[in-house]
Amino acid sequence: MQISGASYIAGQWCIAEGANKFFGFSPKLNQPLSSPIYEATEQMLGQAVSAAEQAFIDYRQTSPAERATFLYAIADEIEALGEQLLEVTHQETNLPFARLQGERGRTINQLRAFAQSLEQCKNGLLDLDIEDAADAHRTPQAKPHTHLSYLPVGVVAVFGASNFPYAFSTLGGDTAAALAAGCPVVMKSHTAHPATSELMTRAIDKAIVKTGMPKGVFSMIQAKGYGISHQLVAADSIKAVGFTGSFGVAQKLMDTIAKRKEVIPFYGELGSTNPQVVFAQKAAQHGKELAQALCQSMLMGNGQFCTSPGLWLVPSDAHELIEESIEQLSKSTSDTLLSPNIVTSFKQGIDVFKHTQGVSLLAQGKLEQDFHANAHLFCTDAATYMENSQLHEEVFGPAVMMVKYDDSQQLKQLIDSLEGQLTASIHGSNEDFAKNAQIIEALQYKVGRLIENQMPTGVEVCASMNHGGPFPSSTDVRSTSVGLNAMLRFLRPICRQRPQ
Ligand code: NAP
Repeated sequence: MQISGASYIAGQWCIAEGANKFFGFSPKLNQPLSSPIYEATEQMLGQAVSAAEQAFIDYRQTSPAERATFLYAIADEIEALGEQLLEVTHQETNLPFARLQGERGRTINQLRAFAQSLEQCKNGLLDLDIEDAADAHRTPQAKPHTHLSYLPVGVVAVFGASNFPYAFSTLGGDTAAALAAGCPVVMKSHTAHPATSELMTRAIDKAIVKTGMPKGVFSMIQAKGYGISHQLVAADSIKAVGFTGSFGVAQKLMDTIAKRKEVIPFYGELGSTNPQVVFAQKAAQHGKELAQALCQSMLMGNGQFCTSPGLWLVPSDAHELIEESIEQLSKSTSDTLLSPNIVTSFKQGIDVFKHTQGVSLLAQGKLEQDFHANAHLFCTDAATYMENSQLHEEVFGPAVMMVKYDDSQQLKQLIDSLEGQLTASIHGSNEDFAKNAQIIEALQYKVGRLIENQMPTGVEVCASMNHGGPFPSSTDVRSTSVGLNAMLRFLRPICRQRPQ
């Protein structure tokens, strides 16, 4: 099947006359791909947004069971894309096939999990409704009957991330949650995987036709220029934004949103260094195994996970852990990153670490190609880390900052100096946890998920998951982008009142 490079506007595949072209990129070959992708125009975006606004009137009136049927159909159509989907995404990302198969499964299951929850709800969406009975005899005033339920917010704009071409992209978590809630979606395709986006959009197109959903319920915009992204979040009909990506871009989109007359929620799932706190007894008794597990987790996807363990807080005398980490990372081999922009940012990030006084480079992996990224293990002391805010930044790729602490007082100061994080892990024995209860108590307030003796990579998709965290790891600490509660982002309360 040929890739057309078109945008999908309310059921039509569209290319504007004389449209600007751009090309996807092969990280493996380090060169652009050959199929052109055509930039959507501002007028096309306007059509997508108005069609979504129109579609909202019908879509919001569909029953949870009808929306479940739609979500099941989308999941089935993704499955039906078969091997071509994996091949196209592999070409665009160079992510291994096994990883892509796993992520495709997760994305399909996510859609089905939302569908199941819609089928099961007896008392409104997510069974959140609350009713208070009337009391006509209450004095001095009778009490009315009140019923709290939830309505979809309206049209949602979705931006995906490069590193999860399925699970956090075109038909990923934000789109699934918004559609489940009853909201149409206008999706800005990621330029790191435009052909993947097109294939995914073919799947939802088939599901829309099969289940008779309104055409404007989903549109996908291909664009490389950023003007269109800002036009999208500024559009009056957009009532919420789901964004997965970097802090810098989130800030730019929030600046545009801040100029709107109507304030709307912006749910930004951003980056994090995911501190790994290693306690003394664990380091002394299991330093070697822990070092191996940490290195393996950090090297997953060549460090390109929002949950990658990028900051390790270790006791100064954790010699075994430090030596083993040096050995593991020195023998690691380099791999590609997802896009030339990410390669540039990675190089800039490690340059900052290299040129900060008090920071040493303990180990580097083998660099096999100059456009690859190889593992970097940096080391510093607690005071240098706390004094230099640039050392707190996420370096997206295979880089670790190891910070040595002398005692629990210094560890507590380090924890207090941390910004908000998606996750943190504590590695310790029961005795370590008991001795450091105050530190663990404080750490909870820095993270959205606190993990005991496990690595942060790998986010379970289940009802009790929380994937989000205090700013700057996300822009709304009260919400999650993974799990069924993600639907809450796109619902708003309404109270209906009557005398009896
Ligand atoms: P990104 O560069 O921030 O891109 C995200 C989206 O923003 C893309 O659609 C991109 O469009 C658009 N964009 C880029 N620059 C823009 C600008 N100046 N104005 C408006 N829109 C702009 O992020 P990424 O490289 O895809 O992803 C890596 C980041 O995402 C890392 O920081 C990672 O930690 C984070 N991440 C977080 C999670 C999570 O769940 N918290 C999950 C995955 C990734 P183009 O396609 O045109 O560039």
